Amino acid sequence: MTCQDAIAILADYLEAACGPELSAKLEAHFADCEPCRAYLATYKKTRELAAAAQRVEMPAEMKRRLRALLLEQLRRDG
Ligand SMILES: [Zn+2]
Repeated sequence: MTCQDAIAILADYLEAACGPELSAKLEAHFADCEPCRAYLATYKKTRELAAAAQRVEMPAEMKRRLRALLLEQLRRDG
């Protein structure tokens, strides 16, 4: 699994919507990949804050921005 794959399914993973096999692959990727772990932590935190503030799911726009931000970082580092 690549970082792009991991990021693409992250939202589904957090909502337990991507199945046990894919979840296991994603967790294996996180175990090896520091940038994706950082992204996961940021994503979860932002999601919690958004939920606490609005008591609704994180807006799609915010998801898109977070994803774009990480992909940008990966491009710079790689
Ligand atoms: Zn990664």
